[in-house]
Amino acid sequence: MSNNPKNQQGLLVVLSAPSGCGKTSVVERLLIRHPDWMRSVSVTTRLPRMGEEHGSHYYFHSKDEFLKMKDRAEFLEWAEIYGQFYGTPKDFVSRQVDQGNVVILTIDVQGSKQIQGIWGRDRPMLSVFVLPPSIKALRERLTNRNTETPEEIERRISIAQDEIKAAALYEKTVINQNLDQAVLEVEEIIMNKLKERSQT
Ligand code: 5GP
Repeated sequence: MSNNPKNQQGLLVVLSAPSGCGKTSVVERLLIRHPDWMRSVSVTTRLPRMGEEHGSHYYFHSKDEFLKMKDRAEFLEWAEIYGQFYGTPKDFVSRQVDQGNVVILTIDVQGSKQIQGIWGRDRPMLSVFVLPPSIKALRERLTNRNTETPEEIERRISIAQDEIKAAALYEKTVINQNLDQAVLEVEEIIMNKLKERSQT
């Protein structure tokens, strides 16, 4: 029996954006519009924010547990960000894409670079970078989100400025000036990629 019940190629979508650029909201809305698409849930060593649940937003693990998973090669990619570890579970992503599903990863630039190096050339992948309209707008969003201290916000902005320079490494960029518009743009990019692949 085929292990690809959909009899179509899946797609790995890597979506990156500096912290506070709205990538979580973009993905949440995409998944409402396309319930058959899925998001990979990462493992992290950072503490849960208010309202975040284990297994839904992240798998929250200790550094010790994370390092054991890394040693067992359980991550497709992993990175240290703001002093915490983040990693993408390999088995889930590979299995779902091979079964013909669209799987979205919301990971940082370091992780995206690793994936571009190891995801097979013949395996379908798309990378999209979501940009803030300006650094001023990003600072406002991070401040309004009310989840980070002022020092943490400045740290995230300085990292964002470096990350934005890496946007050129992605296949597509989308400016999140307006959330609804950004969602439609990312959706169109994914749909076009799926169409392109079904024609080859
Ligand atoms: P936050 O702590 O705000 O949820 O995420 C911080 C950063 O970590 C974001 O840029 C987010 O995209 C990134 N991130 C989340 N999960 C992963 C992952 O599994 N791998 C990598 N490389 N980055 C991740």
